[in-house]
Amino acid sequence: MGDKKLEIIPLYEWGMFTEPRPSVVAGPCSAESEEQVMETAKGLKEMGINVFRAGIWKPRTHPGCFEGVGVEGLEWLQRVKQEYGLKISTEVASEKHVAECIRYGVDLVWLGARTTTNPFLVQEIADALKGTDIPVLVKNPVNADLDLWIGALERLNRAGIKKLGVILRGFSTFDKIKYRNDPQWQVAIEFRSRYPEIPFFVDPSHLGGHKDYILEISQRSLDLGFEGLMIESHCNPTVALSDAKQQLTPDQLSDLLYHQIVVREKDSDAPEWKENIDQLRAKIDVIDENILYALGTRMNVSRQIGEYKKENNIAILQTSRWDKVLSKVVEKGNNYGLTANFLKDVFTAIHEASVEVQNEIISRKD
Ligand code: PEP
Ligand code: MN
Repeated sequence: MGDKKLEIIPLYEWGMFTEPRPSVVAGPCSAESEEQVMETAKGLKEMGINVFRAGIWKPRTHPGCFEGVGVEGLEWLQRVKQEYGLKISTEVASEKHVAECIRYGVDLVWLGARTTTNPFLVQEIADALKGTDIPVLVKNPVNADLDLWIGALERLNRAGIKKLGVILRGFSTFDKIKYRNDPQWQVAIEFRSRYPEIPFFVDPSHLGGHKDYILEISQRSLDLGFEGLMIESHCNPTVALSDAKQQLTPDQLSDLLYHQIVVREKDSDAPEWKENIDQLRAKIDVIDENILYALGTRMNVSRQIGEYKKENNIAILQTSRWDKVLSKVVEKGNNYGLTANFLKDVFTAIHEASVEVQNEIISRKD
C-alpha cells in the first residue's frame, strides 16, 4: 500500500512558529498552581519562548499519582496568554478535553503517546476538533508502530485538521537503556523520508528522562534536520509534582538554546526539508549505531553458543554451517545492492571474531 498523501499546512504558516530552527514549545510537565504556571511562563517569555505547554490532565502509570489539576488550570493558561502574549498548549486525551480547550482558547493541542496507540480515542478527538483551526501535534505511540502513528495523522487530517505535526518522545522498552524511552532514530528517519512535509518535533525531556540528556538529544534532532523541540521547563524543577528529574529552569533552557546547541542551517535555495550533508551524516551516525548494536548482540549470541559447545564438547568450527550462512548472506545482501565480495569480506571478519571468542571460552579452565 502506497503512502496516502496528507494535506498539511507548513509549520511557519501556523501563526505561532517562526524561523530559524528550532521551533520550541516549552513549559512545565504539569500545571500545578497558578503561581508556578505564571512564574514559569514569565521566565520563558523573557527568554524568547512563544509557545507555552502545561499538562492539565496527566496520563499517569499508577493511580494515586498527581493526575493534573483539571479545568482550573486552563484559567491559569488563559492568564499566561493574556498577560504574556504566549500561545498556550496542552495534551488532550478525550472529546471532553477538546471541548474544554476550545472553550478556554487553547492555541495548540497534542496527543500523548498513550493516546496515539488507541484509534477509538484518536477518532473521538478528531471528531471533536472538526471545524476548528487548532494545530495538533501527535506524539509517537508508545510502541514503535509507524503505521499506527500515521493512522492517527490520517484520522485528524480527514477531520479537516491541516495544521498537523508530530513529536518523537521515544518508545517504551523493557531493556535497561540510558534513556527513559528508546529513541529508535531510524523510525524518525523513515517517518521523515515518507512524510517530509510533516513538521517534526522531538521531546528530549520524555525521551531522555533526565535533564542531563536534553542537550545531546536536542542536538541530534537538529542535526537530523527536524524543525522543533518540546522541552519541559519548570520554575523550580526539584519540587515538580511530575517528571521532576527531566525539567530545566527557564534560565537553563535559555543557555541550552542560545549557547549550547549548534544549528546548522540548510541551503537557502533548497526546499525546507531537503537534506544537506550534515543531515545525511547524522543519518549515517544513527545507522552505524544500529550496526554496532547488531554486532554486539550477535557476539553475545556467539558467546552463548561457545558455552554450549564447551559443555557438550562440540568442535568450534563447523565448515558446512559456515558455508550455508555465507551463501544465505550473499543471496540476501544482493537484494540490498551489496556485492558478493563486500559481503564475503565483512562476514568473514565477523565470523573470525566469533570463532576467536568461542576459542577463548573453550580453552578457559573452569
Ligand atoms: C507529556 O508531554 O506531558 C506527556 C505525558 O508525554 P508522553 O505522552 O510523551 O508520555
Ligand atoms: Mn512530563
